[in-house]
Amino acid sequence: MKKTLQEHFVRAALIAAAALGGCGQLKTADKELKAPPSGTIGVAELADRLGLLLRYESPYRATLTDRINSVMVFADPEGRAYVNGVPVGPAGGIVAAGSRLFVPAGLEKKIRPALRHPKLIKAPPRPLPPPPAPRVQLGPVVIDPGHGGKDPGAPGCNGLWEKDVVLHVGLVAANILRKRGVDVRMTRSDDRFSELNDRAALADRVAAKLFVSLHADAAPNRSARGFTIYAPAGRMEQAGALSSAMVRRLLASGLANRGVRPARFRVLVRTSCPAVLVEMGYLSNARDAALLGRREFQDWLAECVAAAILDHLTN
Ligand code: ZN
Repeated sequence: MKKTLQEHFVRAALIAAAALGGCGQLKTADKELKAPPSGTIGVAELADRLGLLLRYESPYRATLTDRINSVMVFADPEGRAYVNGVPVGPAGGIVAAGSRLFVPAGLEKKIRPALRHPKLIKAPPRPLPPPPAPRVQLGPVVIDPGHGGKDPGAPGCNGLWEKDVVLHVGLVAANILRKRGVDVRMTRSDDRFSELNDRAALADRVAAKLFVSLHADAAPNRSARGFTIYAPAGRMEQAGALSSAMVRRLLASGLANRGVRPARFRVLVRTSCPAVLVEMGYLSNARDAALLGRREFQDWLAECVAAAILDHLTN
């Protein structure tokens, strides 16, 4: 049995006390055992195993502690251990020999479950947070994921449907914007069909600051690829800042830039606020479709779209 520093210290202190004419009890402390009594371990080893700090109160009593636990071990006829004031283990079997205490080897298993664990100690209830400062709400903005329901939009060369890709991008973009205090209205939030006129009417009904319709392209020419921004023909300038922000942000997606073009799409013509229709790559192009089929890429597109909308709202 290896002696710990603590035991050496206790023994030295006890010998010193005895030399100075200490009490009769202390004289027994000088008689060291060669080996622990059978079936026992030194109390210092018990402390090591439990990760506790040992302090001898006397040759017959030791305290094992950490920040939140206190275990007391007595070598009295009762021989109990007390964990945070509660007796554990069968009585007896704790013996003092020389300057050391020995406990039954099985006592560790009895003590361990009774110890408090730091994680189980409840933090004091926190004071209620102050009421949030009134936040400036940005928007409202309307995000219009194209197609939906019976209208699947363009088919992808890899089995994708436009309506599914644009819905995911729209929902993620809305989520990002709402977290930044933007009032976002969606023309659809699930796989349902909505009339083009109703989509445009929503923007006017909520007095939207801007309208963004999300689509993905397809063309007979399979090599066509990249994103295109469409702005309402005849009022391109009104959507100029929004178009530019959209181009600038979508360049980060890695899709090729096909520029800003005028169009007479009904959702653009029928809205009175700045409006753009974004074709986010070609589902008929193998490279674009492979990107558009990946959720991470759809999420990244959503971040680009959300960033462009925030650019426009905050500039
Ligand atoms: Zn479309």
